[in-house]
Amino acid sequence: MRLMANESAYDFETRLRQHQLELQPQTVETLQINMGRLCNQTCLHCHVSAGPDRAGEQMSRDTVDSCLAILARYPEIVKLDITGGAPELNEHFRHVVESAAGLGRHVMVRHNLTVTLDPHPVTGESMDWLPAFFAENKLEVVSSLPYWSSYFTDRQRGSGTFDRSIESIRLLNERGYGIEHSGLVLDLVYNPAGAFLPLGQEQLKKDFERELMQNYGLSFNRLYTITNMPINRFREMLERRDAFEEYMEKLVGAFNPCAAGGVMCRNLVSVGWDGRLYDCDFNQMKGLRIDIGGPVHVGNFDLKKVLDRRIVFGEHCFGCTAGAGSSCTGEIS
Ligand code: SF4
Ligand code: SF4
Repeated sequence: MRLMANESAYDFETRLRQHQLELQPQTVETLQINMGRLCNQTCLHCHVSAGPDRAGEQMSRDTVDSCLAILARYPEIVKLDITGGAPELNEHFRHVVESAAGLGRHVMVRHNLTVTLDPHPVTGESMDWLPAFFAENKLEVVSSLPYWSSYFTDRQRGSGTFDRSIESIRLLNERGYGIEHSGLVLDLVYNPAGAFLPLGQEQLKKDFERELMQNYGLSFNRLYTITNMPINRFREMLERRDAFEEYMEKLVGAFNPCAAGGVMCRNLVSVGWDGRLYDCDFNQMKGLRIDIGGPVHVGNFDLKKVLDRRIVFGEHCFGCTAGAGSSCTGEIS
């Protein structure tokens, strides 16, 4: 049966009920903060619709400090996951990293690789200090590399991106990132170049390892495969190609109840650049605020209320539960 392009055809909660699944929050292990939508790139699949023209949407020092206050108050939140845009372009990036590391938290940064090599889109500042800064603070670096060849990478992320990404990985390897026993972790993220589900994570990791080592002498630790979410720039691209319904059908048809049980919103909370709270980064981009029956700003964070909340689901959630599932750390099941 061909699905029609309306919300009820892609009703995620009905699908959960059909499988007797109740997805309630389990923990808040991770605080994920989006430091803003400014980016040096304008990738086709970007669910944030980030780019160099979005300098007005940056997390302020007050909001950063509210996030740090949450970490100080709740030791059970063990990870800080910093994302964007390119979060390194926010003027408070160094402050948030050093402070969270000082609080003993595991800090991860979603790093697009090329930001190290491009001048800051607003100030023109060189960003070449990043690899040394990451290493000094022992950040876990999570970087997108859509493929091990320039054709698919440049098609998705812009001309010349592959060569510059390779150069940036080399700089990270030189600091010890991705090198065995260095303690510095470099994860790569693969997402499909088009409207299809990612291939298996284990096999792709072997292929990436072989190709990056043989061709460029580069290494990394883990490979995460992530499904393109049918929102924002990727959705617009699908609609322009009249392929949105077809993609949704694929996601809905590949619904995996095991993956559903592990969706990341059960164990994290997402903070927008303006301090508003969301169940995940995708809900944030859709403007679906967290539902805790009261204030939804980082300044009023109450862990008990957050754990008691009902997660806000929508049609895009099928992107997290298709096939082997998809989260910020790759496959779920
Ligand atoms: S996908 Fe990442 S690197 Fe590309 S535009 Fe979006 S935030 Fe920037
Ligand atoms: S899109 Fe967000 S709310 Fe929906 S299942 Fe995925 S993580 Fe949860």
